[in-house]
Amino acid sequence: MRFKYLNLAFQYSLLDKRLQVIGYAIDGYCRSNFGIEIMVTSVYREKSPTHSRYCAFDIRIKPDDGLPIFTDEQLIELKKFCKTIKYDTNRPSKPTLFIHPNTSGKGKHMHVQVYPGSNKTVLFRE
Ligand SMILES: [Zn+2]
Repeated sequence: MRFKYLNLAFQYSLLDKRLQVIGYAIDGYCRSNFGIEIMVTSVYREKSPTHSRYCAFDIRIKPDDGLPIFTDEQLIELKKFCKTIKYDTNRPSKPTLFIHPNTSGKGKHMHVQVYPGSNKTVLFRE
């Protein structure tokens, strides 16, 4: 796992522990299956409900001025992998991994989140 900025590594260590585990699982999955080490591009953001509570982080899909790091097929596979992690058993449609399209100049990226402020996100249970 790499970080776009040095301080993101520290912010990552402050994330909800469940989310840190999920991040390492995603990184391990990407290394083993795609030969890709993930790049964390954002952790704490004041104006985001989940990012401001250390319940979300972003992973780069495509750099601003370069080729995509992940193929569409790989993203579909990653979404399936993350479906084994339940964001909230009462809200099954809420995903743990959300693919953000390229809007407002932020570039296409993955947003990974856990349910804020509680233990409702359940790891690896069907
Ligand atoms: Zn995000």
